[in-house]
Amino acid sequence: MQNILSLGGMHCASCATKIEEALQKQKGVESATVNFANQKAIIAYDEKLISLKKIEQVILHLGYGVIKPGEEEFARKQEQETWKWRFFIALFSTLPIFVLSHGDLIGINLTLDHEINTIAQIFFTTIIIICGGTFFVNGFKSIKPNMDTLVALGSGVAYLYSMYVAYYLLQNIRGYTVHDLYFESTGFILLFILLGKWLEFITKGKTSEAIKQLLTLTPQQAIILKEGKEITVPVDQIQINDFVVIKPGAKIPVDGIILEGNSTVDESMITGESIPVEKKKKDKVIAGTINQNGTFTFKAQKIGKDTVLSHIIQLVEQAQNSKAPIQSFVDSIARIFVPVVVILAVLVFFYWTAHESFTLALTPAIAILIIACPCAMGLATPTAVMVGSGLAAHKGILFKSSRAIQKASEIQIVVFDKTGTLTQGKTEITEMHTVHGFHPKDVIKLAAIAEKKSEHPLAKAVIKAAQKAKIEIPDPEKFQAIPGKGVIASYLHKRILVGNITFLKEKKIPINTIEEEIEKLVSRGRTILIVVVNEKIIGLFGIADLIKDDAKEAVTALQNQGKKVILLTGDNERTAQTVAHQLGIEHVIAEITPEQKYEKIKELKKEGHVAMVGDGINDAPSLAQADIGIAIGSGTDVAIEAGDIVLLRNNVMDVVHALNLGSYTVRKIKQNLFWAFAYNIIAIPIAAGVLYPVTGWFLQPWIAALAMSFSSVSVIGNALLMKIKY
Ligand code: ADP
Ligand code: MG
Repeated sequence: MQNILSLGGMHCASCATKIEEALQKQKGVESATVNFANQKAIIAYDEKLISLKKIEQVILHLGYGVIKPGEEEFARKQEQETWKWRFFIALFSTLPIFVLSHGDLIGINLTLDHEINTIAQIFFTTIIIICGGTFFVNGFKSIKPNMDTLVALGSGVAYLYSMYVAYYLLQNIRGYTVHDLYFESTGFILLFILLGKWLEFITKGKTSEAIKQLLTLTPQQAIILKEGKEITVPVDQIQINDFVVIKPGAKIPVDGIILEGNSTVDESMITGESIPVEKKKKDKVIAGTINQNGTFTFKAQKIGKDTVLSHIIQLVEQAQNSKAPIQSFVDSIARIFVPVVVILAVLVFFYWTAHESFTLALTPAIAILIIACPCAMGLATPTAVMVGSGLAAHKGILFKSSRAIQKASEIQIVVFDKTGTLTQGKTEITEMHTVHGFHPKDVIKLAAIAEKKSEHPLAKAVIKAAQKAKIEIPDPEKFQAIPGKGVIASYLHKRILVGNITFLKEKKIPINTIEEEIEKLVSRGRTILIVVVNEKIIGLFGIADLIKDDAKEAVTALQNQGKKVILLTGDNERTAQTVAHQLGIEHVIAEITPEQKYEKIKELKKEGHVAMVGDGINDAPSLAQADIGIAIGSGTDVAIEAGDIVLLRNNVMDVVHALNLGSYTVRKIKQNLFWAFAYNIIAIPIAAGVLYPVTGWFLQPWIAALAMSFSSVSVIGNALLMKIKY
């Protein structure tokens, strides 16, 4: 059992880790991943050992919320509002503190006495502390220090120290003045962190826009027929087998099959096909597509979670939740980072106390705690993955995991299957030759009987030819398909075999009588099907399959990127060579069975990272064996199970787009990580005071807070820049 829960109240990547670890510890939970960037948890569990309710309780107990499905956007907006208000209250409290403590810097000279000034500062700072209360609660609640701990320690130390100074100041002993107070540091730290959080929630809403757009494809309401009357119902009340009425311009609410009426339907949002598709009785319609001018009634077949659109949404969500391999490296650094920073801050504090003074040492210690907050590190990977996979989904490219995105960027060898992948799979018999004086109609009939139960594109060509010649096709008595070779069937004591040369050789059927004919056809690039009855060849077909329009462009693009392109096919060598030649492919591996394809991929993996592109039906083993399997399919019956990347459209260029998007996303991840780390490597020593002997100043904690907030926001911003390029 697997469930995706939307969580509320997480405000840093370490919250995600905390929930993840707590869930993983529960008995019955098989795996749990929590993604901070889209606030979701994917949990796989054994229902017999743990209930969903118990899982939710664990999350609630940690102090986080579980949001009901469908209310995520509302919840995110609400949280965004909360952060906004906290920020503004903090802003209007920090400004007076600044004027009270440093007014002289901006030409405001307040002639207040020290007591009133101090009390006013305490008052306003306390308001800010309340605004940032969650950081203190979360920072000190868990035994393990997290990012909130750094914020809480940094601002808390400044606050407590200032209170200590204020105590003596108000009693007029020890000669403290208002200039010795640090209240403005507390104020600015929390102010900027709150600002960062608010901006983060705004931008986060933008990274998940792709999913939101997919969700808006289905209508809220639909018309169904009840006892002959049309009634309007909410979409989630439609049941399987209900009759749904679609008026012109209406969105289709669920998947189903047309019972009556004609129309054209715009399916571009699912299949990427821009020309509206003609629909008549018995045609399938998919939820989320838009009816054009006609009216029709269809029977609901798939509803709710089972529609093609829901599958697509689930797939994208899962990909966004999954962790890229690179992320585990970041996680392990983030885990030790916080404790290391706390220790470092203490050491720096002692160092400067020994060399300068206690008061002076507070500044670098607080600055380190604040500036080292690794929020940007936690956001670097997931934000780029979300934007990247969202952009891809928009183009009909579904990455099934973050791993697939990362792998896509590493591909060196691209292996293409021929039939249905590089060719259109719209096969047609173009030549025919009969022997032993058999009548062409009989040859077609016998071949069609044998092929009747096969789903291969070649079988379809035979059936089509029979139908065209108005030949009736009885069912075969026995039928067996031999992948990569052909079919064997029996009918009225006849053993019919339809297949390729390899198959005949294997069956020890001599082909010398038709060799000349074969030669003629393969030189034209035809696929040969030989028809054999009772061990005797009775005829052969030449079958043409047009190459897809964009196949050549795609092959060239991949080769220009320095990738090795290979054609892998079960068809005969000469035909494969002809096709390869037309496409400019140098490497051809032909006449092999699906199992041999699998072995070949295994071998190629020793040479480099391999992507296998196939139609997902008979190529499943090789798709799984490759570093990434790319299933190219015609939108509606997406073979979602096959492959790591699913291409909804039938375009070969989408292979190029998918690999490019993968590379681009990984480039963004690396840029983000570089900045997140570089920032810490540069900022921590400065905060520690390495420049003090030269410049005579320490990095002020409020500047540290500003820099730290903007590093998070800039990481998200960098990820969002991807949208501009694509
Ligand atoms: P590809 O690798 O080009 O996708 P397949 O592995 O599906 O091709 O099939 C390879 C070859 O096996 C075909 O070219 C054909 O000669 C033979 N074959 C496969 N299925 C059938 C079938 N149903 N009828 C006749 N021949 C078939
Ligand atoms: Mg194939």
